Amino acid sequence: MVTTPLKTTKSEEIFAAAQKLMPGGVSSPVRAFKSVGGQPIVFDHVKGAYIWDVDGNQYIDYVGTWGPAICGHAHPEVLAALRDALEKGTSFGAPCYLENVLAEMVIDAVPSIEMVRFVNSGTEACMGVLRLMRAFTGRDKLIKFEGCYHGHADMFLVKAGSGVATLGLPDSPGVPKSTTANTLTAPYNDLDAVKQLFEENPDQIAGVILEPVVGNAGFIPPDAGFLEGLRLLTQEHGALLVFDEVMTGFRIAYGGAQEKFGITPDLTTLGKIIGGGLPVGAYGGRKEIMQLVAPAGPMYQAGTLSGNPLAMTAGIKTLELLQRPGTYEQLDRITKKLSDGLLQIAQETGHAACGGQISGMFGFFFTEGPVHNYEDAKKSDTAKFGRFHRGMLEHGIYLAPSQFEAGFTSLAHTDEDIDRTLEAARAVMASL
Ligand SMILES: *Cc1c(COP(=O)(O)O)cnc(C)c1O
Repeated sequence: MVTTPLKTTKSEEIFAAAQKLMPGGVSSPVRAFKSVGGQPIVFDHVKGAYIWDVDGNQYIDYVGTWGPAICGHAHPEVLAALRDALEKGTSFGAPCYLENVLAEMVIDAVPSIEMVRFVNSGTEACMGVLRLMRAFTGRDKLIKFEGCYHGHADMFLVKAGSGVATLGLPDSPGVPKSTTANTLTAPYNDLDAVKQLFEENPDQIAGVILEPVVGNAGFIPPDAGFLEGLRLLTQEHGALLVFDEVMTGFRIAYGGAQEKFGITPDLTTLGKIIGGGLPVGAYGGRKEIMQLVAPAGPMYQAGTLSGNPLAMTAGIKTLELLQRPGTYEQLDRITKKLSDGLLQIAQETGHAACGGQISGMFGFFFTEGPVHNYEDAKKSDTAKFGRFHRGMLEHGIYLAPSQFEAGFTSLAHTDEDIDRTLEAARAVMASL
């Protein structure tokens, strides 16, 4: 495969201007390519498995706008549904029948959800669910896992290392210690650490929240018994189990991780795919818990644009497309081909690597592995990943610009796309 250096003049101009207008030139940090070095490319348009930048370069995309584009970007049926919905107006701020439709689809699909509240982002969903955990149990503390991301609300911005596991020190300036004092953390896949936190904080822990498959520290699946263990421990201590399925919901199975692993949490957060590329989040669970949410109950949570008709429309059509037979088998097959191929090429070109996939979600670390938690993931050679990322970009492959992000395929990715990607990976790894 022959490559010429990417021509990215327009991207560079636009990004240089953006840096004077917006902090770091972006609306969300990872987009700035800080952890891989080099300049971000500025997108012009997206279609199917592909993106085009403002200089006219085409790439095979494995970010899929961080997950929502599971049917492929700008799917014609989603766009057609949106055009029809647009004629009826962009926002109602009042009840809308489409909310019933999407709510019913979510309730039918996700085992733990009997009632749902729509919000505008995954962050909002996680904020709402935390308030609900506390309202229902009358307890203030929560347990989260190191490396798990639950949006940018203050209470979740903690990833204390093992030595300060119970101190709850914030990750970001501007987050008061008092806000995170009730946030306890444990290493992922470590049931004993969770058990200890419960023993040290009797009757004080409202619940445990986690990504049932981690995607925000790279791709880290749960060890056998981990989810089951959390289900038992939370029950034993009168605490709630919350699956943050903003990423995994409708991604690793139609009913999310809880369907895939057969473990039903008390509450679930959703986002990304259920908005079909428009801003949406949701939280839901058992009726007796959800009835606490205003106006049915006293727990306040609201949103001007929540249940927005365009977002509901894109979500409904996306879920309809995912219901077609063979969807998840196809995602699994194509992603396994990619993941196995990458690992094999790494081995043949002499690079320590590990990784894996579940359905259309995958990950790949430049370390021997195995990776069970964030500490393991951090052993990765991130400098090498940066060079790999840049090389792949020059071969027309767009990967998430961080070693610590999962990758995503879509129903639009073909065998030929995967072959081209592996061919590029072989050339780049051989040159690292
Ligand atoms: C993306 C993500 C969020 C945050 O969602 P936003 O829509 O970006 O606010 C929360 N939890 C998980 C697991 C996510 O992947």
